[in-house]
Amino acid sequence: MSENKAKIKKPRVVLPTLKVMFGIMLREKPWFVVIYIFMALAVIVSGTAEIVFPKFIIDELVAMAGGDNASHISNAILLAAGYIGIIAGASLISAVGNYFQDILREWFVEYIDLKLAERAMDMDYQYTEDPDALDKLNKAQEGMSWYSGGIMGVTDAVYNMVISIGKGTASAGIIIFCCPWLLLVQLISLALITFFQAKNMKIEQEGFSKLSKLNRIFMYVFIQLADFRYGKDVRLYDSAAMMIGKAKYYTDKMCAVSKQQSHAERKNSFGMDITNALRDGVSYFYIGWLALTGAITIGDFSMCIGAAGTLYFSLMGISGGLQDIVNKCNYAHRYIEFMDYPSALSKGTRSVSGSSHVIEFRNVGFKYPRSDKWVLRGINITIRQGEHLSVVGLNGAGKTTFIKLLCRLYDVTEGEILIDGVNIKEYSDEEYRKLFAVVFQDFSLFAFSLRENIAFSDDKNNDPAINEVIVKSGLAADVEKLPDGLDTMIFKSFDENGTELSGGQKQKAAIARALYKDAPVVILDEPTAALDPVAEYDIYRQFDKLVGGKTAVYISHRLSSCKFCDRIAVFSDCTIKEYGTHDELAGKPGGIYAEMFAAQAQYYVG
Ligand code: ADP
Repeated sequence: MSENKAKIKKPRVVLPTLKVMFGIMLREKPWFVVIYIFMALAVIVSGTAEIVFPKFIIDELVAMAGGDNASHISNAILLAAGYIGIIAGASLISAVGNYFQDILREWFVEYIDLKLAERAMDMDYQYTEDPDALDKLNKAQEGMSWYSGGIMGVTDAVYNMVISIGKGTASAGIIIFCCPWLLLVQLISLALITFFQAKNMKIEQEGFSKLSKLNRIFMYVFIQLADFRYGKDVRLYDSAAMMIGKAKYYTDKMCAVSKQQSHAERKNSFGMDITNALRDGVSYFYIGWLALTGAITIGDFSMCIGAAGTLYFSLMGISGGLQDIVNKCNYAHRYIEFMDYPSALSKGTRSVSGSSHVIEFRNVGFKYPRSDKWVLRGINITIRQGEHLSVVGLNGAGKTTFIKLLCRLYDVTEGEILIDGVNIKEYSDEEYRKLFAVVFQDFSLFAFSLRENIAFSDDKNNDPAINEVIVKSGLAADVEKLPDGLDTMIFKSFDENGTELSGGQKQKAAIARALYKDAPVVILDEPTAALDPVAEYDIYRQFDKLVGGKTAVYISHRLSSCKFCDRIAVFSDCTIKEYGTHDELAGKPGGIYAEMFAAQAQYYVG
C-alpha cells in the first residue's frame, strides 16, 4: 500500500478544511457570504423559471390555436414578461456577485501567500533544512494555488454544490410529477459517471503527490539557472551543462508522470461518454412516447426535456461537486497541515529582565536532527556580562554550532544552557532573541534599500542611530559613494540603479545591522573574512568601541583578532580543548592555540 493512498483517503479532512476556509472568509469578508446567498437564490430561481415558464407559454399558444385568442395572448405575454423579468433580475445579481468574486479571489490569494510567508519565517529554524517541513511548505503553496483555487476555490465549490442541490431538487420535483421513470434513468447514469470520475480523481491525486516532490527539485535547479547571482559559479565552474542536464532530467520525469496519468484517465473518460449517450437515448425515447400517447401535453414535453437536462447537470454537479469539494479540501488541507506544523522546540514564557546577563553552558552535547554524530560534547563555559570571548578552532570544529545553540536555533541534545541561572528553554522566543545581535558567516542581504537592510525599517527618522552604526562598521565612506546613499537598493533585481556591494561592503552592512539592533550580546561569526587587511585591522582595533560594554562572542580564523578578546575558547574534537587569555594560551607549550598562533604569526607581523 502506498503512503499516498493512505493520505488521499482522509474524509476527516473535509469538514475541518471547510471550517477553516469559511472561518477565514467569515472573519475577513463576512459580507461576501450574504452575496453568495443572493447569487445562489438568483441562479436557482432563474434556472427553474427556464424550465417552467416555457411550458405555460407553449400551453397557452397551443390553446390559442383552439380559439379564445384574446385571453391566451394576454396570458402568454404576461408569462413572457414575468420570465424575462426573472432572468434579467437574476443576471444582474450574478453580474454584481461575479464582480466581487473576482476581486476577492485575488485578495485571498495574497492573504494566503502572506500567511504562509509569516508562518515560514516564524517556524523553528531547524525546519529550514528539514525535508519534511520543506515538502509541507511546498505542498501548502501548491495546494492553495490552482489545485484547490485557494479559499475562494473551496467556498466556490460549496456554492456550486448548493446551486446544484437547489436546481436538482426543483427539476426532480417536476420529473416526479410528469415522468417519474426518468428519475431512475438519471440516477443510474449518475452512479456510473460518479464511479468513473472517482477513479480519475484518485489518479490525479496520486500524480500530484509524485509531481510535488519532483517539482520542488526542478524549481530549485530552475531558479539557480535563472538567478544571475549564481552567474559567476555557473560560468567559472562550467556548470551550465550539468544544471541544464538536471533540469531536463526532472522535466522528463515530470512529463512521464503526467503522461502515465492521462493514459490511466482515458479509459474512465471513455466509460463516461458511453454512459451519457445511453442515458440521452433512453430519456428522449421515454418522454417522446409519453407525449405521443397523450399522457403529457406539448408544454409538459418541453418541460420534461428541460427538467431532464437540468436534473442531469444538477446531479452531475452534486456528484462532481462533492468530489470537487473533497478534492479541493484535500489540497487546501495542506495549508492547515503546514500552518499547524508542530513546533520542534518547547515554548517558554519567561521574559528576560535586566541588562546584565551571565551565559552558562552546562555539560552541553549536541547532534543535528536526523544525525547520529555528536558535533559538540561536554561543553562547559561561562560568559560573564561584558566579557569578549573569542572562539577559535579548525573548520568543522563546531564553532558555528555553538553559536546556533546559544541563539536557540536548535535545542541541546544533552545538558543545558542557562542565562542568569535560568534554562533558556523557559524564556519566550521573542524575548530571548532580543538578547542577541548576530552576524553569521552566511548572513543574507535582501533586495531592499541599504537602510532597510540595516534597520529593517524605511523610517528615515532613525537617521542618527543608523548613521552612527555605518560609521562604526566602516561603511560610511562606501555609503557616500552610492547614488541614493542609504536608500540605494541592494542588487539590481527590482531597480536598475540598484547596486551590487562588494563582499567587504556586504559584511560591513551586516555588522552595521547587528550594531543597529543594539542587543546586549553581540555575536560575530568570522566577521572579517571578506574584509581587506586595513578594514579588518580597523574593525579589530575598534572592536571594544564597536561593542562597547556589551558581551561579545567572536569567531575568527585570524588569531591576531583574539588579542583583543578577554578569553579564548579553542574548539577541537567536538569540545572546548583550551580556555584562557591570549597570553596564557599562546605561551602554553604544545598547546593547540599556541601552534595555530605561531603558524599564523608569520603572516601577521606587527
Ligand atoms: P565550524 O563553525 O567550526 O566550522 P560547524 O559548527 O559549522 O563548524 O560544524 C560542525 C560540524 O557539524 C561539522 O561536522 C558539520 O559538518 C556539521 N554540521 C553543521 N551544520 C550541520 C547541519 N545543519 N546538519 C548536520 N550537520 C551539520
